[in-house]
Amino acid sequence: MTDAPLKLFNSLTRSLEVFEPVHAGEARVYTCGPTVYNYPHIGNMRAYVFADVLGRTLTWKGYTLTHVINITDVGHLTDDADDGEDKMEKMAAAQAQSIWDIAEHYKQAYWADVRALNIRQPAQWTVATDYVPQMIEFVESIPEKHLYEIESGLYFDTSTIEDYGVLARAAITEGEGRIEAVDGKRHPADFAIWRRTPPGETRQMEWDSPWGRGAPGWHLECSVMGFNVLGFPFDIHTGGIDHREIHHPNEIAQNQAFCGHKCLDEKRKSGANIWMHNNFLVERSGKMSKSSGEFLRLQLLIDKGYHPLAYRLMCLQAHYRSELEFSWEGLGAALTRLKRMVMAVGPLAEVPAQPEAEHPKFAPVLARFDDAIADDLNTPIALTALEEALAVKKVDAGIKRAVIEDMDAVLGLNLFGLTRSDLRIRPKSATITEAEIDTALARRKDARAAKDFAASDAIRDELAAQGVEVMDGDPLGWEWKLG
Ligand code: AMP
Ligand code: ZN
Repeated sequence: MTDAPLKLFNSLTRSLEVFEPVHAGEARVYTCGPTVYNYPHIGNMRAYVFADVLGRTLTWKGYTLTHVINITDVGHLTDDADDGEDKMEKMAAAQAQSIWDIAEHYKQAYWADVRALNIRQPAQWTVATDYVPQMIEFVESIPEKHLYEIESGLYFDTSTIEDYGVLARAAITEGEGRIEAVDGKRHPADFAIWRRTPPGETRQMEWDSPWGRGAPGWHLECSVMGFNVLGFPFDIHTGGIDHREIHHPNEIAQNQAFCGHKCLDEKRKSGANIWMHNNFLVERSGKMSKSSGEFLRLQLLIDKGYHPLAYRLMCLQAHYRSELEFSWEGLGAALTRLKRMVMAVGPLAEVPAQPEAEHPKFAPVLARFDDAIADDLNTPIALTALEEALAVKKVDAGIKRAVIEDMDAVLGLNLFGLTRSDLRIRPKSATITEAEIDTALARRKDARAAKDFAASDAIRDELAAQGVEVMDGDPLGWEWKLG
């Protein structure tokens, strides 16, 4: 049933590779997590849905998964390269709040989105500010030739790494055209390892170090947390495709300098065997942004009445390496598709699953599902296999339930935890309660039974005035809709 070899697209080699774990039977995965200076937008959450499907697939394939996601609460500048202000400090100043409170607030908001999207909890959430001593130790182990100090702090000399930027390919030459923002930097691509607090200033977050009081660079954090929790080399490093250009090449450069190639994987010498990147969620108007246009937070989707798992399904409908365009129509279509699935599992709700049992009717569809998910996480095809399994008739219900549960363990749609009414469109702005709607619909049913169509129509109009559309004979059994 899970025979297909797991092939994953490695951004380092730009090719599909069969997954071979560093430690037999295990899979160790590091995912670059959010910078908790603001709410995540739904594009950011696509990165974690992707990492979650990867983790679930590794579990499906029988590996013991250790997944780490970090929380960046220090060091990320407004420009991914090396320019601008610290995102956290900037937001703390704008909101006149302590940076620690800002970090806590947005971390909790991110975790709420993680739960709402049924993203499994990783083995560990590593928080950058908990690892500052380890970061200092790590840098102290990097041979001096790779580092230089200037007034603003300690920098990494990217010219000391033979194949610096191999992950980014074309983007590196663009980098050379960037304006040199920091005085004294030797090469435009060089980056801060430690940012010294300017004389006469204090930062809310700063630590003593051999290079003066200051704060670590963003790239350093991920190298250090990955190394400390998973060991070099670990199996898979993930992030959004923007990280392929600056953040991950810089992590790799640090890893190489730290190890002197001694503790890295011989094949790649990068710290992780496979580097995987999800493509962007975009808006019709272009790049998704937190500052311009409608700020597409998951909570906005929920407030407009969409169940968050409809967004998860929308993500799964595209391959993670393809760009995905967000639209409200697309979200509505995903919601309808999810509702059809939930309706199809309805008759299995009370049936105990029979996990050990096999049934020849399911063998081909399970094989198709496995082939799809093992083919670099081809979730669009895996979803159609799930729907085929849902449509199988005249079969033992316990076996069918076990098959659907297995598939859903990979896709994470929580099909057995959802009800039809969970998926009803119900905007937060609506003031009428469900109990009121139910009472009105019951009165209308009575009026129709008594052939009092004038009364029945009047009730329908009353409901319409409050935003409730009565949907007689809707094939999905949606009796009403708000909005
Ligand atoms: P940040 O909090 O800015 O570090 O971003 C968190 C994650 O979201 C990173 O892995 C980014 O690469 C990823 N990301 C940013 N924007 C998008 C987007 N529009 N679509 C998908 N992933 C994104
Ligand atoms: Zn990172």
